[in-house]
Amino acid sequence: MDCIFCRIAAGEIPATVVARNEHGMAFRDVNPQAPTHVLVIPIRHFGSATAVPDAERAAVLGELLRLAVQAADQLGVADAGYRMVVNTGKQGGQTVDHLHVHLLGGRPMHWPPG
Ligand code: 5GP
Ligand code: ZN
Repeated sequence: MDCIFCRIAAGEIPATVVARNEHGMAFRDVNPQAPTHVLVIPIRHFGSATAVPDAERAAVLGELLRLAVQAADQLGVADAGYRMVVNTGKQGGQTVDHLHVHLLGGRPMHWPPG
């Protein structure tokens, strides 16, 4: 298996895990862009949001957002507010080809994004 996030999900690469259930896991980004920066991934490998078969999108993407919202609550950024981002594909800025939601919080976010 050469996918770094599959290896994190399998426990082969260490990560600071903040939440996990049967569908997904949340762990700290190794290069945080905000005081709270967590990645939420499905345990199953999907290369991107686009790569999830349409019949499974509602369940897979829904579970990811659910876990991200839960992590935001658990990490204490829910009241102040936070941002969830899914970089998708080359122009979307995706660098790791395993679907993931960025949960960013702990500072004001700006708009438009870069
Ligand atoms: P993307 O650019 O694909 O949206 O986000 C990939 C994210 O994965 C980046 O924020 C990067 O810092 C993070 N990342 C890359 N490799 C690792 C790793 O081995 N461990 C952790 N915890 N995060 C990683
Ligand atoms: Zn993977």
